[in-house]
Amino acid sequence: MASAAPAQEAMLAVRNPRTGQADYRLAVSSAEDVTAKAARLREGQQRWAALPLEARCGVMARWLGEVKARAAEIGEADAVDTGGCHTSYLQGFITLANIGGWLEDAPKALAAYRVNGTSAVMPTVEVRSELVPYALVGVISPWNAPLMLALLDAVPALFAGSAVLLKPSEVTPRVIEALFETVRAVPELAAVFDYVSGGGEVGQQVIGQADLICFTGSVPTGRKVAVACAERLIPCFLELGGKDPAIVTETVDLERAATAVLRGAVYATGQVCYSTERVYVHRSVHDAFVAKLVEKARAVRLNAENPRAGHIGPFTFAPQAEIVRRHLADAVAKGAQVLTGGEVEEIGGGLYMRPTVLTGVTHAMEIMREETFGPCIPVMAYADTDEAVRLANDTQFGLTASVLAGSEEGALAIGRRINAGAVFLQDTFLTFGKMRTIGTHSFGFSGLGGSRTGPESILRFVRRKALMTQHGPVADIQDDHHLGQKPAGPAA
Ligand code: NAD
Repeated sequence: MASAAPAQEAMLAVRNPRTGQADYRLAVSSAEDVTAKAARLREGQQRWAALPLEARCGVMARWLGEVKARAAEIGEADAVDTGGCHTSYLQGFITLANIGGWLEDAPKALAAYRVNGTSAVMPTVEVRSELVPYALVGVISPWNAPLMLALLDAVPALFAGSAVLLKPSEVTPRVIEALFETVRAVPELAAVFDYVSGGGEVGQQVIGQADLICFTGSVPTGRKVAVACAERLIPCFLELGGKDPAIVTETVDLERAATAVLRGAVYATGQVCYSTERVYVHRSVHDAFVAKLVEKARAVRLNAENPRAGHIGPFTFAPQAEIVRRHLADAVAKGAQVLTGGEVEEIGGGLYMRPTVLTGVTHAMEIMREETFGPCIPVMAYADTDEAVRLANDTQFGLTASVLAGSEEGALAIGRRINAGAVFLQDTFLTFGKMRTIGTHSFGFSGLGGSRTGPESILRFVRRKALMTQHGPVADIQDDHHLGQKPAGPAA
C-alpha cells in the first residue's frame, strides 16, 4: 500500500499595504497544530502558575529586556504590516510600557484581590482565598494596531499565571513574527506563550481549546466568537467597534475644537476603534467650525512618498477602502456634500484617502450609523444640547465620545449624559490616558465583559477560590432542625 503523502501546508498570500503586492506568505496552522500547541502550553502553564509571582515577574522583566533590544526592529515590522502609520514605529516601545506597567501593577492588583480573615456571619470560620488562573487564555486580535492589540490582554494574562495562545490577524502577520523572536529568547516564557496563524477558522479552533477568550475585532465576528464561547461555557471578553461621536458647543474655542476633531478622526487613517466618526456642532458655529476643519484637513499630507514623513498612511486592509467608498457613496446619494478628499487614491499600489469632511449628513446615512474606519469626518448641526445628546446617543455602539465646550464644566455636564465607556472632555482620542489608571466598560455593541484597562483588568484571568477552616465545634445534625424556625418570643 502506498504511504500517504504529507499534508500540504496551506499558505496565505499577504498583501503589502504600500505596494499592493503579496510579498509575504503565511503558513496557516492546521487543526492539529492548534491542538498540539494548546496541549504544550497547558503543560507549561502548570509550572508557570506554581511559580511565586516574583519569579514570574523576573521572567517578564527578562522579556522586557529582549523587547527593548529589538524595539526598533519590531516597529519596522509593524510599519510594513500597517503601511506605516504614526504609531507603528513606536510599537516596540509601547510594548515596553505595557510589560513595564504590569511589573508594577500586577503584584498590587493581585494582592489586593486576596481576602483573608474571619467570616462575618460564622465567626468561628476562618476564610482564605487563593487566586487560580485560567489555564489557557486564547487571544484573537485584529489588523489595526496589530501588535498592541495582540498584547493588551496577553501580557496581564501571563502575569496572572495563565498560558496564552494568540491568533493574530492574518492581515498583519509580520510584526507577530518579530515579536516572537523576543519570546523565544526567554524559554520560560516561550513555554507558556505561543501563536497560531490563519483566519476565522483558526480563530474558532483556538476557541475550541481555550478556557477563556479575549477578542478584539468587529461586531459581526464578535457575535460569532460569543456564540462559540457560549457553546463551550467559557468566559469571553469582547472589544468591538465604535461610531464615536464628538460634540462641539457654541461657546467652544473653534481653533482648539477643529484641531482636536481632525486628529481624532484621521489619525492612522481613521483605522482606530475609538476614532471620532461623527461630529455634532452647534448651528451657530457650524459654518465657522467647518471652514476651520476644511482648512486644517487640506494641510494633512499622505505618507505615500516616505512612510516616516506624511501624516496619514494607506488603508492597511484593502477591503476597508471599499467599505469607506460605500459609506461615502451612500451619503452623497442621500444629499451629503463632500468638502475635501472623498476619493480612494491608488498611489504606488497602496490605497489612500485624504481627510474627508462632509456636511449635510443625516442619521439615515450609513456614514452616521455604521463603523466607517476611514479618514471621514461627517459634520451635522444641532439646535440645542438636548438634541446633541440625543444624536450622540442614537447609536448601537458606545465605545468612546468627545465633548468640546467653552468651559470644562460645560463639557462635563454634557459628557455625563453620553452613553459610552469613556468620554474625552476638551479633546479627543484620550484612551491612552486611562490605560493604567482606570478600568472602563464599553456600552452597547462595543463590548462585552470586564474592562481591559486599569489595574483590575488582570482579575479577568483569575478565579477566586475560598478555603474555609472551622475553628469552633462542628454543628450536629440534631441541631439543624431548629434552623429556619421562628425564634421563641412573646406572641404578636
Ligand atoms: P475582524 O472581526 O474581521 O477580525 C478580528 C480577528 O478575528 C482576526 O484575527 C480574524 O482572523 C478573527 N476571526 C475572523 N472570523 C472569526 C471567527 N468566525 N471566529 C473567530 N475568529 C475570527 O476585525 P478586523 O477587521 O481585524 O479589525 C477591525 C475591527 O476591530 C473594527 O471593527 C474595530 O473597531 C475593532 N477594534 C476594536 C477595538 C476595541 O478595543 N474595542 C480595538 C481595535 C479594533
